[in-house]
Amino acid sequence: MDNMVYNFSAGPAMLPVEVMQQAQAEFRNFNGLGVSVMELSHRSSDFIAVATQAEQDLRDLMQIPDNYKVLFLQGGGRGQFAALAFNLMGKNAKADYIVTGQWSKSAIAEAEKVGTVRVLDGFGEAELTGEEQGPRPLAKEWDLDPTAAFVHYCINETVDGVEYPFVPKTGDVPLIADMSSTILSRPIDVTQFGLIYAGAQKNIGPSGLAVVIVREDLLDQACPQTPIIMDYAALAKADSMLNTPPTYAWYLAGLVFKWLKRQGGLTVMGERNKAKADLLYNYVDASNFYRNNVHTEARSWMNIPFQLQDESLNDAFLAQAKAAGLVALKGHRLVGGMRASVYNAMPIEGVQALVDFMDKFAKQHA
Ligand code: PLP
Repeated sequence: MDNMVYNFSAGPAMLPVEVMQQAQAEFRNFNGLGVSVMELSHRSSDFIAVATQAEQDLRDLMQIPDNYKVLFLQGGGRGQFAALAFNLMGKNAKADYIVTGQWSKSAIAEAEKVGTVRVLDGFGEAELTGEEQGPRPLAKEWDLDPTAAFVHYCINETVDGVEYPFVPKTGDVPLIADMSSTILSRPIDVTQFGLIYAGAQKNIGPSGLAVVIVREDLLDQACPQTPIIMDYAALAKADSMLNTPPTYAWYLAGLVFKWLKRQGGLTVMGERNKAKADLLYNYVDASNFYRNNVHTEARSWMNIPFQLQDESLNDAFLAQAKAAGLVALKGHRLVGGMRASVYNAMPIEGVQALVDFMDKFAKQHA
């Protein structure tokens, strides 16, 4: 295999092997300049060409219309929890937040510093399965405030393994999406969103970088206290170069975008990601040794938590998986068990290797 190990980390996560090899090959001598991209001035024409191309490739991949700005910023996903509240709650300081897990919950605390937040349960009624209640499906309707500045949700909950297979309908209220752990994993219709943001460290590139895609008409409602380094309008005006941007991360993101184009774009990635997720969920569902507790309609294609029925085997599972070249499978501390993050860079061979290992382990301990 091209990969030294299969890395199932939730983030920072595996990048495509070809991207890593290209970065390594041009590390000290970019484009014959005799310097690394990391050593180029962000004001140089060489770096501006890198930055502009990366933005264009992202626009092509996601079919981002011209009335949206694309920003390459610092501070990761969490930085945007604060930035979006500062930028969008200046005229109308109230917003609706739909909660489906750890990350949508975390975003609320930042918005509450700026305005009034209404918290909406993202799940509907659980089905009754015999004597027990089954997992809860995603709600499709909410009691939304038509006068709110925006509705915020997290498309894919990295910790909980919950992903929306549909875009919530919010009428005229702009929809804001935390897309950190699912951006670029399948096609989406950007026009349904007022603002999309993503920390880069899953499907884009190195941690610390964040990408923001924002509709231009939303750039006029920032709070006066908005720090300039978070001010979308000022950042857009400066082409994300208000201060020194994370240049090397931006360059690596550009290599990932080119790689995605070579793969055939987001339709192809969506097909691949569905096939990977189906392979693992089908195995887990058919097994009585492992289980996944997420409603089948809300299961993430990117982060797949699973539990061993006998939790006392967790340490042995992780140790033997590591010895088999399958690393970073430990679940998040809040959920426990295991989690396989299978972002774009994870080939189906990696998921097959995991399923083969899980089956062998189950038979050994049956
Ligand atoms: N949102 C989601 C869905 C995430 O998975 C993460 C981090 O994993 C964040 C936000 C926070 O990102 P960061 O650590 O870059 O601030």
